[in-house]
Amino acid sequence: MIPLSQPQWQTETWQQQLSGAFRSLDSLLAALQLDRAQAPYPLDCEPGFPLRVPQAFVARMEPGNWFDPLLLQVLPQARENEPSPGYSLDPLEEARSNPVPGLIHKYRGRVLLIASPACAVHCRYCFRRHFPYEDNQPARADWQRAIDYIAAREDISEVILSGGDPLALNDQRLKELVLTISEIPHVERLRVHSRLPVVLPDRLSSSCIAALSESRLQTVMVIHCNHPNEIDADLAARLGELRQAGVTLLNQTVLLTAVNNQPDTLCRLSKKLFNVGVLPYYLHVLDRVQGSAHFELSDDVARALHVQMMETLPGYLVPKLVREDPAIGYKVPL
Ligand code: SF4
Repeated sequence: MIPLSQPQWQTETWQQQLSGAFRSLDSLLAALQLDRAQAPYPLDCEPGFPLRVPQAFVARMEPGNWFDPLLLQVLPQARENEPSPGYSLDPLEEARSNPVPGLIHKYRGRVLLIASPACAVHCRYCFRRHFPYEDNQPARADWQRAIDYIAAREDISEVILSGGDPLALNDQRLKELVLTISEIPHVERLRVHSRLPVVLPDRLSSSCIAALSESRLQTVMVIHCNHPNEIDADLAARLGELRQAGVTLLNQTVLLTAVNNQPDTLCRLSKKLFNVGVLPYYLHVLDRVQGSAHFELSDDVARALHVQMMETLPGYLVPKLVREDPAIGYKVPL
């Protein structure tokens, strides 16, 4: 961990931390005591998908380690620019399930709202790294169109807030959105997919927790945690408050070469998640988005890792190993 005595970001609001996130390669490398000239792999110094990483996440990286599993998730590498056969800009073909701006409807009974196009962190493996967010900027009028779409379809019982990251919304807009959704009688559940609590735990402020938990809806939060080193005392405390407020906590992990492709890492992740009140839910193989091929594991390796998890852990700590297939309306078990 970085030996920072009372670092300034720890005294800042989550919004200040968000705007103070590292955006330049040199400042990130300097914070980690890494010399760009010594990089053991070629870096991308002007990535099309920009570097972005909050200091709270960097504080969990090991200084001087080019292969830190948290760093590898956010550091732009030159090989992201190599075209890879079989990889596309929109691997899940979401553009064809986008009936109104800001809304994706591909699963029966559930819709996904792009609540915010912004993210606190730019994960290099992100399947939405090329998503046309500029066409899906959810202005209030678009939210109304999305809400009208949901209200007109009584089979929709669950609304999933996604992004970008839905917790990039401020608490007032988040509260408004949750309350508006809760006024649609046939919606029973609200699911929030967010990596923000992991990379910036202070985002789970008491007003955020209230916004998420005080409606009539059953609320599920799926945090996106990929490595046990991502779980620290701050995150554990915030998740505890969220759970106390009645929110069900689940996790999904993406299998990533050099980050979490070891059985011991995955088992430790499951145990640590459970210790902080989060059930391991999905273990995803990579969505084949251009720029991410260096993270991929073969299906055989993924299955072998999953078997090792089953051999080691009680069943409730073994997430389902799945792939997303744009032609199939559910996550496909491998
Ligand atoms: S937080 Fe999620 S949506 Fe945002 S860049 Fe990372 S993987 Fe993509």
